[in-house]
Amino acid sequence: MAVSTELQARETIHAGGEWRAATSGATREILDPADALPFAVVAEGDEKDTDLAIAAARRAFDEGPWPHTPVAERAALLRRVADLLVRDREKLGRLEAQDAGKTVEEGRVDIDCVADAFRYFADLVAGEAPGRVVDAGSTDIHSVVVHEPIGVCAMITPWNYPLLQASWKIAPALAAGNTFVVKPSEITPMTTIALIDLLVEAGLPEGVANIVTGPGHSVGARLSEHPDVDLVSFTGGLVSGTKVAEAAAPTVKKVALELGGKNPNVVFADACATEEGFDTAVDQALNAAFIHSGQVCSAGARLIIEESVRDRFVTELARRAEKIRLGRGTEDGVECGPLVSEQQRAKVEMYVESALKEGAVLRSGGKRPEPSPQRPENGYFYEPTVLDHCHREMRVIREEVFGPVLTVETFRTEDEAVALANDTEYGLAGGVWTADAGRARRVAGRLRHGTIWINDFHPYLPQAEWGGFGKSGVGRELGPAGLAEYRETKHVYQNLAPKPVRWFAG
Ligand code: NAD
Repeated sequence: MAVSTELQARETIHAGGEWRAATSGATREILDPADALPFAVVAEGDEKDTDLAIAAARRAFDEGPWPHTPVAERAALLRRVADLLVRDREKLGRLEAQDAGKTVEEGRVDIDCVADAFRYFADLVAGEAPGRVVDAGSTDIHSVVVHEPIGVCAMITPWNYPLLQASWKIAPALAAGNTFVVKPSEITPMTTIALIDLLVEAGLPEGVANIVTGPGHSVGARLSEHPDVDLVSFTGGLVSGTKVAEAAAPTVKKVALELGGKNPNVVFADACATEEGFDTAVDQALNAAFIHSGQVCSAGARLIIEESVRDRFVTELARRAEKIRLGRGTEDGVECGPLVSEQQRAKVEMYVESALKEGAVLRSGGKRPEPSPQRPENGYFYEPTVLDHCHREMRVIREEVFGPVLTVETFRTEDEAVALANDTEYGLAGGVWTADAGRARRVAGRLRHGTIWINDFHPYLPQAEWGGFGKSGVGRELGPAGLAEYRETKHVYQNLAPKPVRWFAG
């Protein structure tokens, strides 16, 4: 790939405590999606670099101090990392905004959430009992169940929340005493590289934290198949996630997959009975679908609305969608940034075109915006798009678009609403809007998705598990289960009064 003459390539592969260039010497330009211009050059690693990083992580696990470091010290290090993230919040928030094409305010919130994840796992691990004594039915037996780190963890992350997704893996892995190799998305590696610097500054021993920047087909595939990797945790799309699971199978390593979603936002008419209720439900439907231009795994991309309020709701929604201020995320007053790449915008355009051919009615957007001083011509912008009169046979309803496209379907009964919301091969998250508390709990209980929001959309808590039903993934991040992913469980059975068993007479 061509390298910009003005930009200096940074050594972005970190293996065994050293920053290095790619063994092959290859580099990659990192583009700002708001103008398609390069703003950094990083190392383009391959299988050889990946092998080096894995070997370093293996050594650090087998011979280094980290797996045996007292829990209190591990927790203290994680808290130091959180403090460093807070110190660098503005710099990292801006870098995330530029790299992933989000607003600076979103970037700052991301960094706050990253710091929260480090603090949460520090507190969780520090507050735990060291083992669980099991009643073996005899005072001669002492039986205890303990948890140990898994070993070398490979982490593969996507471009939409680059540092947040990495931190949901790195914080629990370190809390549990593992070593790791992380591979950020090749198009948004900048903040993950910066995090490795912070881990080093916080005092993490050499070889514990390793990073290889580079593509999925080489670096990601090698991490997934490598026999010295004990666990691979992947966040990304269904197609790549399936390849990771296949590559990991022959070595029977543990596999955690956080994949896509096709998330329903179910609105009952009673939620819109008052002006305030109507305004809140519309406002949150916009937020559900269009924040970060819809490039959110839990985006509420399917509005499933009771027929009696559809016209009023969709009219207001489309009116407000048209007013969303698109532009470079670092400019004041901008509410939504560009899509992350030309390829991603082309995919969105393909889905909108196919929906319109299949009978959807365009209520807003559906095109690239005019360039403006805040919106460079070469940026990958796309207008927030509302597609009315959609139905289950359409591709846009069945497949994840991962862009600013909201589809509208209607229902008449509660059963119909539940059936529509569950009619997806995914099952990541969903919202329910109703003024009837009983209905809210009933519907939430029937939805087959990993997170259900009632009269809200999008919030998550580090202390609550995150993950999907169905093809949205395997395993959970965050919460106690998010720590358990990075541990082996061992039963230690001690006989305090050993005697022969005489099973065999001779
Ligand atoms: P992607 O699948 O294209 O890439 C994700 C990562 O996998 C990247 O680092 C990529 O280089 C790597 N990769 C690609 N092919 C690989 C292979 N064969 N082997 C190993 N690694 C490979 O996804 P993306 O476009 O970066 O991200 C968008 C997707 O991520 C969406 O589907 C979104 O829903 C999903 N996502 C899910 C969650 C969640 O929590 N469930 C969170 C964020 C994003």
